[in-house]
Amino acid sequence: MGSPAGEMSMTDRETVACPVCTTSPCTPYLNARSYCIVRCDSCGLRYVNPQPSLQELEQLYADFDQGNQWRIGEEPFNRKVRNVILRYKQTGSAMDVGSGSGNFLRCLRQAGFEVFGVEPSLSGSAYARSEHGVETFHGTVEGFAASGTTREFDVVSLLNVLEHLKDPAAILSLLRPRIRSGGILVIVVPDARLHALVGETRKRFGFGDPFWMETPRKPLVGFDPPLHLCSFEPKTLSKLISRCGFEPVYLRNAPLIFNDDHWKNVAKRVLHVGTECIYWLAFRHVVVGYSTLLVARKP
Ligand SMILES: [Zn+2]
Repeated sequence: MGSPAGEMSMTDRETVACPVCTTSPCTPYLNARSYCIVRCDSCGLRYVNPQPSLQELEQLYADFDQGNQWRIGEEPFNRKVRNVILRYKQTGSAMDVGSGSGNFLRCLRQAGFEVFGVEPSLSGSAYARSEHGVETFHGTVEGFAASGTTREFDVVSLLNVLEHLKDPAAILSLLRPRIRSGGILVIVVPDARLHALVGETRKRFGFGDPFWMETPRKPLVGFDPPLHLCSFEPKTLSKLISRCGFEPVYLRNAPLIFNDDHWKNVAKRVLHVGTECIYWLAFRHVVVGYSTLLVARKP
């Protein structure tokens, strides 16, 4: 993925404050695909600014809404994330936001959870229902909240979703009432630190396109405008979650998702081994990796 959404809406783009700490001063970090990624001077979040308009994003995702993406295997990732969830919740109801194919919800259901998905893609929500029998709301979190629902869940997950959102704090605030007291929020996002380190090192050594912005099957997706609007790292993710009224209880490198790209899978494995070594050699104080898995509790 990765072609920009075109020139039509560039004038509609909106300058925004930092989605994590809400301050405005920022420094340009990377220009790519006609978008600018800036770094917040206060909290260090890297984010796309100005942001694409809602219309631009809707067009982009409509173009991406093809059925075949839902058949990509991700079972080992799903099982490993489920194992982390089971440390905190052994039973109850679970809602997955951006539930896609419903594969993750099927995996939770096998462990005894009642499951429900929210998925804006028509093909994804239809696939989840027809292939897995997963109950799914076809639409956005805003649409689900506006439906007047009073449902509550013990587990709410956003796996590789938060980085796509224009206003992640607003979405977490809409989700908070849907989580029972003592329930958990489960988040996976790419870890921008690793992606920045690799890109900046390649730049220093004179590589053209050091962040692989023009490479169709890029090995690192920490920066992927306009699909990824926020590039989190553990520090900024924890700050956002705390600001939205949750208590982080678990923060680790996320399990890897493999796909049909052999060399990308090899690169991920090598990076994963390296970052696991850093974690253990630093006496479990340094969490840096391809992606971050965070679990937070609603008090
Ligand atoms: Zn900030």
